[in-house]
Amino acid sequence: MRWTSWVGFAAGAALLAACTTPPPAAPSAAVSEAQAQPPVWSLVIHGGAGVITRSGMTPERDAQIRASLMRALEAGAAVLANGGASLDAVEAAVLVMEDDPQFNAGRGAVLTAAGTHELDAAVMDGRDRNTGAVAGVTTVKHPILAARAVMEKSEHVMFSGPGADAFAKTQGLEQVDNSYFTTPARAEALKRVLEERKRSSASDRHGTVGAAARDVQGNMSAGTSTGGMTAKAAGRVGDAPLIGAATYAENGVCATSSTGHGEYFIRVGVAKTLCDLVKLSGLTIAEAAGEALNQVAALGGDGGVIALGPGGEPAFVMNSEGMYRGYADATGVRWVAIYGDETR
Ligand code: ASP
Repeated sequence: MRWTSWVGFAAGAALLAACTTPPPAAPSAAVSEAQAQPPVWSLVIHGGAGVITRSGMTPERDAQIRASLMRALEAGAAVLANGGASLDAVEAAVLVMEDDPQFNAGRGAVLTAAGTHELDAAVMDGRDRNTGAVAGVTTVKHPILAARAVMEKSEHVMFSGPGADAFAKTQGLEQVDNSYFTTPARAEALKRVLEERKRSSASDRHGTVGAAARDVQGNMSAGTSTGGMTAKAAGRVGDAPLIGAATYAENGVCATSSTGHGEYFIRVGVAKTLCDLVKLSGLTIAEAAGEALNQVAALGGDGGVIALGPGGEPAFVMNSEGMYRGYADATGVRWVAIYGDETR
């Protein structure tokens, strides 16, 4: 079996045929690797996509982000290397990013127009497509744990608003004041977006974290956690908690998490679409991710997708300037990247 990893900003022309309405730019894709056998476990992570450029980045921040991504990657990789479950690896990687104020999830989440935080998260277990999600939680410190509790401890798949916070409390999950999530950078971003709302493009207002993993048993899982989009309306729910929009996992098919302008990812049903393209149309994971993102781009949306294919082969696709991302596998490969023109 051959597999490929698609990353970066070049090539992929065949995938772009369906994309007729740039900008935003068409999804980027380049074949960078081919191996005879897939790794026995693998892990992809993202920390959000958007207007992430070298000119807008200081060397210090660039280094901090890479170190943070590597910490998240190593947390998930440690679980998988010890024979742990893909769901635990996804949770471990996302928890690190929820605790890191540099990412738009948990502490460091963006603010709504009302100056509060409403957080969304989802997990999915590819063994049986069981899933759990929370939308608009305000006091649970780690929304990814609340999503997992919904999946494992309730008979439902999604809770929203006060009911979701209340459920998380009954599960003994750590609670914080809503102001815990605020950082000076997010407060400044809200001020700027509110002041410049008319001129501000959506693509500098988002970010999210996510992970997808395949463990040594071949089980696949995915998870996504976000504060949503800066200055979003109170009550707005994005793609992160909606199963099949940003998050999906099915053993032997795919595990995926998206980041970007959520309304477009919901309209396309990106995560389920790309998994169906693998399962029903026989596309490679990279082709499927590219095609799903083509559909987002054709509607005018932007963002990025990380995914693992049936054998754990990774795909990274974006039509935004950058996406915080990383990859690890059982062969010892570890890398993180930020900009769209990085070759992985
Ligand atoms: N997709 C998220 C949302 O729309 C934001 C992001 O990923 O950047 O809520």
